[in-house]
Order: sequence, then structure tokens, then C-alpha cells
Amino acid sequence: MALRIDILTLFPEMFEGPGPLSSSMIGRARAAGQVDIRIRNIRDWTHDRHRVADDTPYGGGAGMVMKPEPLVEAIETVRREGGAGNSRSKVVYLTPAGELFNQAVARRFAQLDHLILICGHYEGIDERVRDLAIDEEVSIGDYVLTGGELPAMVVTDAVVRLLPGVLGNPDSARQESFMDHILDYPVYTRPEEFRGVRVPAVLLSGHHAQIQRWRRKMALKRTAERRPDLLERAALTPEDRLLLDEIRKEKAAG
Ligand code: SAM
Repeated sequence: MALRIDILTLFPEMFEGPGPLSSSMIGRARAAGQVDIRIRNIRDWTHDRHRVADDTPYGGGAGMVMKPEPLVEAIETVRREGGAGNSRSKVVYLTPAGELFNQAVARRFAQLDHLILICGHYEGIDERVRDLAIDEEVSIGDYVLTGGELPAMVVTDAVVRLLPGVLGNPDSARQESFMDHILDYPVYTRPEEFRGVRVPAVLLSGHHAQIQRWRRKMALKRTAERRPDLLERAALTPEDRLLLDEIRKEKAAG
């Protein structure tokens, strides 16, 4: 069964046209039926003439709050459509107060049958929606955006490219940054020399084992320099430790 993703939003127009969810690999995955992405307008679950989905906050203060009734009804309907009670379904609220989204979370979501992403707007959603209908809260980074639409696109992109068959070469997903808490190695293509900068000779050598060793060393070097926090979590092999020793010695030698 293809993963189904419902994105609940007050601004469906942000997903219209040839955008990130209909171009490139995600567009192809949708066309091939590898994922079923549906954009749902939360206003369709309002019952008043003006389709009001937000209101002023109790207790006063700036901004508007998304009302609980249309949102909870929308979530309930969409869950039912996807087969409510399905243990492999999740309702996820995008919020700066959520758990930080990363590759491990993307991998976890890629195992689901049904992912329901809730885009907040204004000052966010009424807290009772969180209590009653949300399974998990996810943030895409420590900054505040206008709404959850861009985060929903980010999460969808990261998840869909992990689905079986979506990447032409499955090794791409296996080898890239964060797979084992190590950043990706540098890559080059033609020409061999560009503005005086040459492609590292080892990559032209045709020597597969040496190329693998160089790539691993560069990946470890990059991670040590840029994300030492990741390196602490990585399961390093004895060969990795030798490479890291080599990197430290080269650095000390200037
Ligand atoms: N007052 C809220 C707070 O400080 O948590 C911010 C609300 S924000 C202006 C409006 C909506 O944008 C949020 O409800 C959320 O859905 C979305 N949003 C903003 N930044 C986000 C982030 N870093 N990750 C995920 N969603 C975000």
C-alpha cells in the first residue's frame, strides 16, 4: 500500500501550481502512485457562512488562534478515510515547540501507511486540539515561520524520497548525510579542472578501494569539523578511528 499523506491547511493555494510537491522526484513519485498526497482545506469543516477558522485568544494578547472545532473534525474525517484505528497512521502537528525533525524521524514516518500533517498559522492551534487529536509534534528548526505549510513540504519531501523505489538508485539514500551520523563526502563531476581547481587525483584513479577510503576520510573530516556533536553519536569502526587519527595528525602538522 502506498503511503498516504494528508496536509491540513488554511492556505491550500500555497501547494498549488508546479511547486515542490509536484516537481522533480516528488512529482514523479506521485504520478507513479508511490505516494498519495492530498491537500485539505481546514475551512471545508467550518459550518458558518463566513467559514471562520480562527478567533481571538482567551486572556487577551496579540494575534489569532486556530479554532478547535473545524480542525478536530477535519482530523477525524481524514483519519477515517485512511482507515481509522490503523496503527500505522500518525497525526503530526508542525510547530516550533515540537521535537526537532531529522533523518531518523523521516525514516520513522516513511514506515507509516498514513501521515496527517497539520499546518498551524497565526498564534497556532487551540491547545485542546493537541490534547485530543495530535499524536506527535515536530519542528523543522529553531526559528519561527509564518505557518506550517513550508514545514509540511519539508517533512513530505524528506519522507517521500525514502519510500521504496522513489530514488532511482537506492544507494543514494543509504550513503547520504546523517545515515550513520556522518555527513556526506564531497562530490565532483566534469571538467577535471575548473578555474585552476583540479578534481582530487584519487577520484580519477579508478582504484575502487582507495576511492572508498578517501570518501570515508573526507566524510569523517567534514563531520569532525562541522558537526562534532554528530560524531559523538556515530558508531565508528576501528578503520574510522585510524582515519580520524590521520586527520588529527594532518591538522596538527598544518
Ligand atoms: N506562537 C507560536 C510559537 O511561538 O510556538 C508560533 C506560531 S507560528 C507564527 C505559526 C505556525 O507556523 C505554527 O503554528 C506552526 O504550525 C508553524 N511553524 C512556525 N515555525 C515552525 C517551525 N520551526 N517548525 C514547524 N512549524 C513551524
